[in-house]
This record gives sequence, C-alpha cells and structure tokens, in this order.
Amino acid sequence: MKSLPHWIDSQARPASSGRWLEVFDPSSGEAFAQVAAGDATDVDMAVAAAAKAFPAWSSLRNSERAAWLEKLASALEARLEDFARAESLDGGKPYSLARDAEIPRAVSNLRFFAHAATQFASESHHGEAGLNYTLRAPLGVVATISPWNLPLYLFTWKIAPALAAGNTVVAKPSEVTPLTATLLGELAAEIGLPAGVLNIVHGTGAEAGEALVMHPDIKAISFTGSTVVGRRIAALATPHLKKVSLELGGKNPTLVFADSDWRVQLDTLVRSAFQNSGQICLCGSRVLVERSIYEEFRDAFVERVATLRLGDPSDENTQLGPLVSQAHFDKVKTCLDRARSEGGRFLVGGHALDRAGWFISPAVVEGLGPDTASNREEIFGPVATLQAFDSEQEALALANASEYGLAAMLWTRDLDRAHRLSAQLRAGIIWVNTWLMRDLRTPFGGMAASGLGREGGTEAMRFFTEAKNVCLALDKPP
Ligand code: NAD
Repeated sequence: MKSLPHWIDSQARPASSGRWLEVFDPSSGEAFAQVAAGDATDVDMAVAAAAKAFPAWSSLRNSERAAWLEKLASALEARLEDFARAESLDGGKPYSLARDAEIPRAVSNLRFFAHAATQFASESHHGEAGLNYTLRAPLGVVATISPWNLPLYLFTWKIAPALAAGNTVVAKPSEVTPLTATLLGELAAEIGLPAGVLNIVHGTGAEAGEALVMHPDIKAISFTGSTVVGRRIAALATPHLKKVSLELGGKNPTLVFADSDWRVQLDTLVRSAFQNSGQICLCGSRVLVERSIYEEFRDAFVERVATLRLGDPSDENTQLGPLVSQAHFDKVKTCLDRARSEGGRFLVGGHALDRAGWFISPAVVEGLGPDTASNREEIFGPVATLQAFDSEQEALALANASEYGLAAMLWTRDLDRAHRLSAQLRAGIIWVNTWLMRDLRTPFGGMAASGLGREGGTEAMRFFTEAKNVCLALDKPP
C-alpha cells in the first residue's frame, strides 16, 4: 500500500506518532494508500521550518518568487496526466474532468499568482495631508486548510497567493484526498524550491487542523470547507486576532426564466447542478423555473439528467463518479430519505447503485417548498430540487430564502432583468447565462453562512499581506 508522508522542510516524513490514516478509492470502497496522521508535534516541526525559511523567501525579489511559482507550474503541467489520474483515483472524480479542468486550473493558479507577484502594487495618497504611501509586507508563516472536493485546484488556489506575497506556508490538505498535494510536495522538492517555503502536513481536522490554527506563530489562516468547521476556526482564531479567510458552504439557486435560451443551454444547466456529482460548492442545487415553462423545462431537464453516464471514473466516457467517502455517501443517503419524508417526488435517480463503491444516481426532486430542510441545508451531492415561480419578485424571494450566499445563476435574455436581479440576489458570485466561468482576477467568495472575505486576484494578495501606511510631512515651499 502506498504511503503518503508529510513534506516538511523539503523532506518526506511519516507522522511523528508513527500513525497512519487509510485513504480510500471511492469507486471500489477499498483502501489504496495510507496517509500520515499528523498532530501538534508535526505541526510544530512544519511551522518551525517555515519560520526558518521566511527571512530568505520574503527577501527575494518578487520576480524571483514568481520564477519559482512558474517553475512549479511547468513541472506540474509536464505531469498533468499523472496528477489527473491520481486526482481521479483519490476523489472518485471522472479522469476527464481532472485532466481537462481541475489539474489545468491548478497550473493556472500557480501561473496566475506568479504574474500577480510581479504586478501587485500598493497605493499612495497625496494632496490632502502630506505624502502617504502604503507598504504591503508578507505576514510570515501562514496556514492553508483545504477540502476534498477540488483537492489540488483549491490547494494551489491558496498556496500560490500566499507564496507570491512572500509568506512561507504550512498547508493541510483534506485527509480524505491527500494524494495530489503530496505529489506536489514531492515536485516542489524535485525542482529545488527552498526548504521550508512550502510544508505539507496531513491529518484530521481535529488533530492537525486545530493544532495549525492554534499555533502561536501562524499569522493567518485561509480556509475552504464546511460552514460548521469555518465557524469553529473563526472561534479558535479570533481571540488570538489572527487573520482568517473563510470560504464555506452553499445552497445556490439557479433561476430559469421563460425568455432564456434554456433549451440550447441545457447541458450547461445540467452540469451546473451535477458536475463532480454535485460536490462543488458552486453547483446550483435549487433550480427555480418560471411557471409558464415549468413542465416543459422539467421534462427536458430530467430526460437529460437520466442520460448522464455514471460509472468508473477512470473510463474516458464517464460523466459522474461516486461520492467521495463512506461518510459522505451515508450523509447524502440520509438527505435523500429526508427529501422523501418531506414529500419530495423523485423524477429521476436518488438511489445507491448495487455495486462496490459509493455511487448514487443523480436525483431531480419536485414538490419541496423553500422551508424544507432539503431546500435549506447543503447536501453537496447529486441532488437538485425544482421549484416554480410566477414573478421576478417571487423568484428573488425564493433565491434569497437561504442562510447561504455563495453563488447564484441567472438564465434570462432580458438585460434589464439581469442587472436588476444581479444587484438584489444575496450571493458573492452571480453568473448570468453561464456557470463556473472564471476570471481569476475577480473577487471570489460568499456572504452570510458562505463565508468571510474574498479570494482571487488582488483580494488574495491583500489578505496575505499587512498594510503599513507611511506619511511624510511635505514642507510648504519657502
Ligand atoms: P470540512 O470543513 O469537513 O473540511 C475542510 C478541511 O478542514 C479539511 O482539510 C479538514 O481536515 C479540515 N478541518 C476539519 N475540522 C477542522 C478543525 N476543527 N480545525 C481545522 N481544520 C479542520 O469540509 P469538506 O467536507 O472537506 O468539504 C466540503 C465543504 O467545503 C462543503 O461545505 C463545501 O460547500 C465547502 N466548499 C466551499 C468552497 C468555497 O469556495 N466556498 C469550495 C469548496 C468546498
């Protein structure tokens, strides 16, 4: 069985306790690897290595740090297919999705923030009171904690800006999908990234994660994961006045108006609900449809969902794989039972497949109102509900009937309506007539229970730096 070590100070290391956690292949339910079960001792070691590396790394020219990130991006790109295979094995996602979207995006994250390192500028203010300019210094050692659903994509989305801004990093990937982060640690050592700049500590959230959050030398925590854990991290970090960025759960609405090109865009609409088996924080799990097209839309949508090919993730033709873990499979099954008991009518899917692995057929459910738990709580699986609306105001009320506020998708050809609703929808990201189209410079993140702070572009560079204003008195000319 393959063993996945920590990467601390450019060295592969087992957990200091000698303990390992099993890592499972979701398509068979069998363990295929073991990962170091890190704890506070490992975190101490990693933070010490990062602290030692900080003075030299933060003193490099921006262009030198950019060159390291470029080098890592190119090394990753050269092994794209290996990484895609690893991601598919570890998370059960279709190989084609990992190869065509997720690993290329990890490469882009590294490249994008390499460029950001050379382009990031600070402000100056004058004409009111002296001459002011802002210095933006790296924070020191920062922690990144990432989830299992887009393992390398989100891991790199955090480490890249942190490193570009001059920090050194201790990164904790999800213990559920630790494979590609470990391979990236190996790659960083191979290209000779200075020791201690990027450290990877594995382990559970309760042990390794909390030890990292609580470590006195960790200056900031960039977290992506569930709202429950985000709240816990905020509660732990706030008394110590650590900087925290939280990207949390979602229950995103998709609003389909009668005037939209929904027939032409049906594939995108289906993808926006079911990509990665619905295990993307940005998936639209509440589909709201204008009543005049409700039945026609419902039938076409259900018909298309029924054709999704669910199966072996390594098969080129597979569109949906299994859920990531036994625990998540059990959770989604419980949500499906709850939807039935709430009176939901299953139009397609919603069954565990009679085979090894954690497969659930994609489900479309109608008959559930906005106050049901099914429409309120994040399921994070292949489940979409349909609700009809009569007016724009009702659509808006239904869309905003959620404690979350991550993304909202709007399908309409009425430009006035698109702008009007975009301003009123309570979400950090609005997509109009598209889904998951990303310009990495834009602010990314959610409001309310979906998080605190924004990632992407300048927002991320600002998060990973501390501003210091310098004010010079300007003498009046004699
Ligand atoms: P999770 O919160 O269970 O775990 C995320 C990470 O936090 C893991 O690395 C885990 O080990 C760690 N962790 C768990 N408990 C911890 C603790 N007490 N202290 C420190 N670290 C701890 O989330 P998950 O199940 O891995 O991911 C799914 C969730 O992530 C969903 O809610 C999804 O919506 C959310 N998500 C949000 C975004 C976004 O950008 N907003 C993106 C992807 C996923």
